[in-house]
Amino acid sequence: RVRVRFAPSPTGGLHLGGVRTVLYNYLFARQHGGDFVLRIEDTDQTRFVPGAEAYILDCLKWCGLEPDESVVKPGAYGPYRQSERKEMYQQYAHRLVEQGDAYYAFDTPAELEAMREQYKTPENPSPTYNQQVRQHMRNSLNMELEAARELIAEGTPYVVRIKMPVDEVIGFTDMVRGEVNVHTSQVDDKVLLKADGMPTYHLAVVVDDYLMKITHAFRGEEWLSSAPVHLMLWKKLGWEDSMPAWAHLPLIMGPDGAKLSKRHGNKYGFPIFAMNWTDPVKNEFTEGFRERGFLPEAFVNLLALMGWNDGSGQEIFTLDEMVQRFSMERVHSAGAQFDFEKAKWYNHEWIKRSTAQRLLPEVQQVLAQHGITDCNEQVLLQVIDLVKERCTLLSDFYEQAGFFFQAPASIDTESIKGKWNEQKTLFFTELIRNYELTQLWQAADLEHAFKEIAAVNGLKPGELMLPFRIMLVGGKFGPAVFDIASIIGKEATIARIRRTLK
Ligand code: GLU
Repeated sequence: RVRVRFAPSPTGGLHLGGVRTVLYNYLFARQHGGDFVLRIEDTDQTRFVPGAEAYILDCLKWCGLEPDESVVKPGAYGPYRQSERKEMYQQYAHRLVEQGDAYYAFDTPAELEAMREQYKTPENPSPTYNQQVRQHMRNSLNMELEAARELIAEGTPYVVRIKMPVDEVIGFTDMVRGEVNVHTSQVDDKVLLKADGMPTYHLAVVVDDYLMKITHAFRGEEWLSSAPVHLMLWKKLGWEDSMPAWAHLPLIMGPDGAKLSKRHGNKYGFPIFAMNWTDPVKNEFTEGFRERGFLPEAFVNLLALMGWNDGSGQEIFTLDEMVQRFSMERVHSAGAQFDFEKAKWYNHEWIKRSTAQRLLPEVQQVLAQHGITDCNEQVLLQVIDLVKERCTLLSDFYEQAGFFFQAPASIDTESIKGKWNEQKTLFFTELIRNYELTQLWQAADLEHAFKEIAAVNGLKPGELMLPFRIMLVGGKFGPAVFDIASIIGKEATIARIRRTLK
């Protein structure tokens, strides 16, 4: 049975790349009738940020990519939070030491600092603890294992480090990148178990992927350099036959070609997180796609196409279609560039294609933010259909639909004044009289009366249409003007003409 996982560390908001990783995992699981697991990787207590876990769960819900197993929906492989699995990891670290594949290291922070000073060169300004260095350090490779155990028994702080083999090539097949080979001399002796008894990410991720029976591990390219360590662990723990298939997903780049980060969001003014997020530790706000006015369908669609396509040129996909067509083999290995204009294009396409019923809750919310709360639902549905083509972001529904329910706050009188004359005043006065008396309030009736009165007064309806529009909506925008009048009704139409005539 296919089992995939998304394994975020709860250290902050979820950015584009993170959600895309979720999406590819989700699509793959659905396509294979498998399970999608959410595992919270919170072993690094120093980076823990309160609220980040709940935020991640909310994001997945908003995107419609809910996991089959998670902290809020436990399956058979829990707990789903690594801090609650703490005891499980230690035995594996000690087993590796026993086998000679890992070792205890007692180096103090000062000793590690001295090591870095001693080995640093202009080419390598921050040397790491590796196979060249380890023979000169204070660890169980350089003493009897018994002596090391005694130090531990005395309470000497220690970590467990992996012992990377000397002169070997570690290779694996990545579903996106093909054959990947790394020489062990390039990989340092990563810490597996920290002085506080907590595992590091490297140990925990392997143990959990094994215990949770993960069959495919898809994650961002930034983890590629850790893959040799993980492969080594799978092998040395004797689990090679259960090792998941790997795919490292291409990075997402900003407009300047550098890896997408919050910096880009600030510089170019676009969101890079799924939803608004305020970091309670740094007290720093980052904008989200949801609040910027994106539909989740559009957000997920645009993310899918950042690194994948089905080869047909099709760009708009529903989630179900993506489940049908997705394949990891068609994910590119080159980085994908984020383009906010293109992102907005997706959203516009999705707004146009969505039914008024689908858009209703979002539009109601946008209007409510501007104090428009008591709209008749039937009328609102009609309005949404009338204006949705003009809305790129959901927030545009305020400008495009708000005037149906509320007299415009300001009127662009400048655009009327210049060409105004007494005849026009007379026309609108007569129009008011006509509209007051009429029993028919369909767009066609209103248009008919309008044109007739214009003709009688020797005026061209074309010259009167723009002022009429501005009176009703406040500016030079909106759908067909008689549709607007028919929807806002007799009373509001007349009141808005009067208001400007004064
Ligand atoms: N905890 C890692 C992260 O924050 C998970 C990487 C992986 O999927 O192996 O992205």
